[in-house]
Amino acid sequence: MGACQASNPLLDPAPLPAFDRIAPEHVTPALDVLLHDAQAALERATSDAVAADYDAMSAVLDVATERLAFAWRAVGHLNAVADTPELRAAFTDNLARVTEFHTRLGADERLYRKFKAIHAGAAAAGLSPARRQALANAMRDFVLGGAELQGAARERHAQILARLADQSQQFSQHVLDATDGFACFASEAELAGVPADVVEAARAAAQADGREGCKLTLQMPCFQPVMQYADDRALRERLYRAYATLASDLGPAELDNSAVMREILALRQEEAQLLGHANYALLSLVPKMAGSPAQVIGFLRDLARRARPQAERDLAELRAFAQRELGLPDLQAWDMAYASERLQQQRYAFSAQEVRQYFTEGKVLAGLFRVVETLFEVSIREARAAVWHPSVRFFRIERGGELVGCFYLDLHARAGKRSGAWMDEVRGRWARPDGALQSPVAHLVCNFAPPVVVDGQQRESLLTHDDVTTLFHEFGHGLHHLLTRVEDIGVAGIAGVEWDACELPSQFMENFCWEWEVLQRISAHAQSGEALPRPLFDRMLAARNFQSGLHMLRQVEYGLADMRLHTEPGSEASIQAVIDEVRREVAVVPAPTFNRYQHAFSHIFDGGYAAGFYSYKWAEVLSADAWSAFEERGIFDPETGRRYREAILEAGGSRPAIESFKAFRGREPRVDALLQHQGIA
Ligand SMILES: [Zn+2]
Repeated sequence: MGACQASNPLLDPAPLPAFDRIAPEHVTPALDVLLHDAQAALERATSDAVAADYDAMSAVLDVATERLAFAWRAVGHLNAVADTPELRAAFTDNLARVTEFHTRLGADERLYRKFKAIHAGAAAAGLSPARRQALANAMRDFVLGGAELQGAARERHAQILARLADQSQQFSQHVLDATDGFACFASEAELAGVPADVVEAARAAAQADGREGCKLTLQMPCFQPVMQYADDRALRERLYRAYATLASDLGPAELDNSAVMREILALRQEEAQLLGHANYALLSLVPKMAGSPAQVIGFLRDLARRARPQAERDLAELRAFAQRELGLPDLQAWDMAYASERLQQQRYAFSAQEVRQYFTEGKVLAGLFRVVETLFEVSIREARAAVWHPSVRFFRIERGGELVGCFYLDLHARAGKRSGAWMDEVRGRWARPDGALQSPVAHLVCNFAPPVVVDGQQRESLLTHDDVTTLFHEFGHGLHHLLTRVEDIGVAGIAGVEWDACELPSQFMENFCWEWEVLQRISAHAQSGEALPRPLFDRMLAARNFQSGLHMLRQVEYGLADMRLHTEPGSEASIQAVIDEVRREVAVVPAPTFNRYQHAFSHIFDGGYAAGFYSYKWAEVLSADAWSAFEERGIFDPETGRRYREAILEAGGSRPAIESFKAFRGREPRVDALLQHQGIA
């Protein structure tokens, strides 16, 4: 090892990444070494030197690929939370070769043969259940990766994947450029009703362009408040029209996604057929929990049927309110958000700002930790580790004095940090081939308002109730990853968990944010220190299910459109017709004929949700039903907590999610709890 390698923190064998020392110039040299080693390990693992034996293969291949993944995840993480032009360049420069290695690994015929031999060998029966699951997943993924294809089919499959990656990128580029390409200017008078800080930002944006008045865009922080609050109906219509026709045939031709969508759907259909499936939805569901497209479509239609009466009531009520109070006798698509916001304010009489005063970051965090400690019999203690920003904290989770796992907590928004909230793994639990037990480590990332300094004093961050819910949600993902007892890295924690079941532990945790017993403990007014008053909580609770019927139907409409587009061969020639049919079947709010939402539906055309948008509702059924077990026995019932922990959190991906669910609930999931919680049943 040369001096350069020895000092490269990405090649450091330490158990945690040296986040304080990793610099852009380390990335390429480290990847040179790690990719070279992983390639050498692949060659060795597929040679006769290594027996077709699970442990022998793992000792060669998993050790090398995990070392590569560990370093690459650290780079990806820094790219997301501490972006600089130099780091982004280093990341993009290496992304293609890391992806290329994994694509090749996943379709390697020699490796596939070796795994087949392990699978068919006498020793396979003696493997632990977790290991058998990991082996089954590996076999499945080889098939999905094209390892069984030969000759021209193999070549065509690789072409399709490359072209799909390219067209997906094209799709999102069009959406981004169309979004950025729109601007309209309005006077302050035309923005009557819009919150002052939004108007201020719009005025600053106009000034930056050397223009008078206010500059309005389709970016969420501008578009959303204008649709919700602007009294000027013509202005709302103008913005709605622009938004609903983004990247479509009704906009600039060079940004029209029509042809891209057609090609993506056709390529997916071809990919599915190459791999022996009649349509893409069938292929997409192979590694998922749902059994068939018909089951998913039936599930969505059932939700639609049950939610419809509530949705019709929601709409009738809104129409009556709009006519009576707002002078809008003909409620249009561009009035929906505006009228809804006014109705909600009038009925529940509280503001998010008022609620926010009760949730200081320290109190919420301490309360969250106490919930977790009580329910899952662990203790959480702050510890030291190298971090990428001074505000980032690091914690150990222990049980009976023994380390269970660790997590980094990066809560505040700042420049160079991607928006949104997420959980990501640093490493998974693993009984390593060298005999050491690797404990799991996770990242928990949010984008809350950072503390502000007032009169020279730092004021603690205040969280909205949405922020609190987000924190609990991400912590739920974290617990799934950290509390696992599985020792095979491919199925420990969140690894190997079906896509449509992943949101169970996260959505489950959100429920605590709606419990009086919990809110009392995690709230304290920033000035008076008083806990959240009960009457305010009651109004929040009453508003929780506001328009839940309409919301449910919207989700079902997207899910059904996605499923039908990926189930019906030839759908690429009639995308608009499918969209229109689904709308006629499901929606209660009539959409304008110019609405082209599918042209910016990135979830399914550029993202992992193709034939998978239903996953949100699917997992919500599981989480609501799991939660109802706690409602039955008390939300802090130790026995229920232990069963949930053991059956769901500790089992991770070591068995199908449905088995974990049944081990906890003692029966198949039922949709009733979800409907009840949303006031629809
Ligand atoms: Zn989530």
